[in-house]
Amino acid sequence: MKKNLLALLILAVILSGCNNSNQEKKTEDMKATTNGEVPKISDFPVGEPNTAYAQYFSGRSWLAPLTKMSELNVPMSNVTFEPGCRNNWHSHTGGQLLVAVGGVGYYQERGKAAVRMMPGDVIEIAPNIEHWHGAAPDSWFSHLVIACNPQTNENTWLEPVTDEQYSEAVK
Ligand code: MN
Repeated sequence: MKKNLLALLILAVILSGCNNSNQEKKTEDMKATTNGEVPKISDFPVGEPNTAYAQYFSGRSWLAPLTKMSELNVPMSNVTFEPGCRNNWHSHTGGQLLVAVGGVGYYQERGKAAVRMMPGDVIEIAPNIEHWHGAAPDSWFSHLVIACNPQTNENTWLEPVTDEQYSEAVK
């Protein structure tokens, strides 16, 4: 009887060990995905559905703030776009930096050809330049956004990028 109890105890310890490593695996996966909807396309966190800016986006996006020390004055976030998702035409009085980190996306300035963005690409957006950024039609896309001159920066949100403008830009 005692032997059986000991065997049970050992089994319980082994099982709880397995459970722990499953839990760790699960936590690891959660860093990369949200509700299993977002594929892992970079090593940066995906964050939460981007509800705050949803009104300025066509399609779904996710937002993960990466820094919180406001006195550094360089706020940085990761934005993830589902395929086909892009933000409206807009401008930043302080300018903006984009750093592509996963998937394939596009950046376009008003009146210019769109630029295809691949991981490692850096886009410098001068103050007050009207532009949009987003995913390719057939790929998820993540880029870091770095706000420039955040002490005075203001965003001006304009009209959506129409399906015609988008198709023309990405072809
Ligand atoms: Mn922008």
